[in-house]
Amino acid sequence: PTPVLAVVGRPNVGKSTLVNRIIGRREAVVEDRPGVTRDRVSYDANWNGRIFTVVDTGGWDPDAEGLAEAISGQAEVAVSLADAVLFVVDATVGITDTDAAVVKVLRKSGKPVVLAANKVDDMRTEAEAYGLWNLGLGEPYPISALHGRGSGDLLDACLRAL
Ligand code: GDP
Ligand code: MG
Repeated sequence: PTPVLAVVGRPNVGKSTLVNRIIGRREAVVEDRPGVTRDRVSYDANWNGRIFTVVDTGGWDPDAEGLAEAISGQAEVAVSLADAVLFVVDATVGITDTDAAVVKVLRKSGKPVVLAANKVDDMRTEAEAYGLWNLGLGEPYPISALHGRGSGDLLDACLRAL
């Protein structure tokens, strides 16, 4: 069976933008406003000749009470179906309570996690990304899903984890 990489993280960190970059097509829906309701969506991907499935997640109501619980619940489902997890945070914002709730789920799962520090569009933001070593999830990969910066190294790490 094809290995499955689940992309998780809170709304608006750039998961769908990153999924589009990984699959090389604009199929995942990118929203300027967070929380448009969707189910998990799977796409076929190929990196250096290795075929895998990438699962984009989303589909919660940002105004709902208990957002952190809703998102960590969804992450739990996605992670249970995955061989490895690509956890996306917004390096320009840092770690929120919602991110912390997802981290708990990831730790509990025991699945391999690759940490993407997104929205590092230029050198200036790179320092914020290195602060994410604190999460205890290993090396943070500074990337710009929007511009493609760092995505090759990130994908290499994802394939090592799969
Ligand atoms: P999702 O909710 O996590 O799937 O996030 P989206 O992929 O829908 O992106 C949310 C917003 O962040 C959109 O306006 C994107 O254009 C923007 N975004 C995504 N990646 C980057 C990035 O690397 N840099 C910047 N500056 N903006 C980004
Ligand atoms: Mg999305």
